Amino acid sequence: MLLDNHGRRITYLRLAVTDRCNLRCFYCMPEDGLNWLSRTELMSYEEMLRVCELLVKMGIDKIRITGGEPFVRKDIMQLLTALSKLEGLKELSLTTNGVLTAPHVAELKAIGVRSVNLSLDTLDAGRFFAITRRDEFANVMDTMHELLKHDMEVKINAVVMAGKNTQDIIPLVELTKDLPVSVRFIEEMPFNGDGHSYSGVLWDYVHIFDEIRSVYPDIQKVPDPQYSTAYNYQIPGHLGSIGVIAAYSRTFCGTCNRIRITPQGTLKNCLYDDGVLNIKDLMREGKSNTAIVDALRVAFNSREKDGWAAERKRMENPNFHESMATIGG
Ligand code: SAM
Ligand code: SF4
Repeated sequence: MLLDNHGRRITYLRLAVTDRCNLRCFYCMPEDGLNWLSRTELMSYEEMLRVCELLVKMGIDKIRITGGEPFVRKDIMQLLTALSKLEGLKELSLTTNGVLTAPHVAELKAIGVRSVNLSLDTLDAGRFFAITRRDEFANVMDTMHELLKHDMEVKINAVVMAGKNTQDIIPLVELTKDLPVSVRFIEEMPFNGDGHSYSGVLWDYVHIFDEIRSVYPDIQKVPDPQYSTAYNYQIPGHLGSIGVIAAYSRTFCGTCNRIRITPQGTLKNCLYDDGVLNIKDLMREGKSNTAIVDALRVAFNSREKDGWAAERKRMENPNFHESMATIGG
């Protein structure tokens, strides 16, 4: 069992495979993109596989592939297929914007992926363009239907942004009436890649829930699965369910079971820290598996208590402007 210095079990790795993306969601990156990582700065698939293998042996049993957009990295299915064969890994999943995903759904299912998180902040094509700066709404909807056709578990991630898409909350909730999807509303976090930060969110998890309850007063709380970051709900008679994720308010740190690895191989113990160890560098220095496992254990033994403590530490570096595309969400 892999435990951190606060006695929390670590079981879940989120691996960002690229910083590149075919959308430009304004809450994630500037319109002209990021200063993209070069090929040599990125971890290779061999390096990713090696570190995943070590982590699974240490106690990780769930891996989520994310990015940037996973499907813009060449041959991503090769990595997913290799990961799906890791002994001891119970769950392999991914988070995608759905632009290029539909043609891969059958193969994802064949290699054992059962659940996909699809990012979709609005059901209005015009607002989709305003948020993502790309005209790809139809492709994302195709992906959603293709996933459902293949009986995949579909979680829809919708970031709630004051003045941008709060009118989409109820239409997105209504999607759960006839479709077996889980729509999860996420508080906006300060990771837009341009250094703009803020000291609070207008639409926090309480506000989001109150908005839903004002239209659906009979909404019911359902049990939250172990390690869930979402408060989970259901509306009687609806096929799907609803989640609200306090990503900015950080109400879930006490049971945090997750670690992150960025496309450049940096281990993040917390969404809000600025990286605690570069695993790619260790591998390229020729370190043995034993030495890498030792370094990982040291890192897991110095996890911050919560996202507030991690953020305070990160703020000591005022030039640190991270995009969610290198964190992976
Ligand atoms: N490109 C893929 C996608 O959009 O699904 C995977 C990477 S994306 C960074 C992962 C998740 O982070 C998405 O669901 C996205 O909505 C969310 N995200 C990005 N920036 C965010 C922000 N500033 N606040 C909250 N969530 C954010
Ligand atoms: Fe791309 Fe995902 Fe970031 Fe949007 S949230 S710009 S889809 S990486």
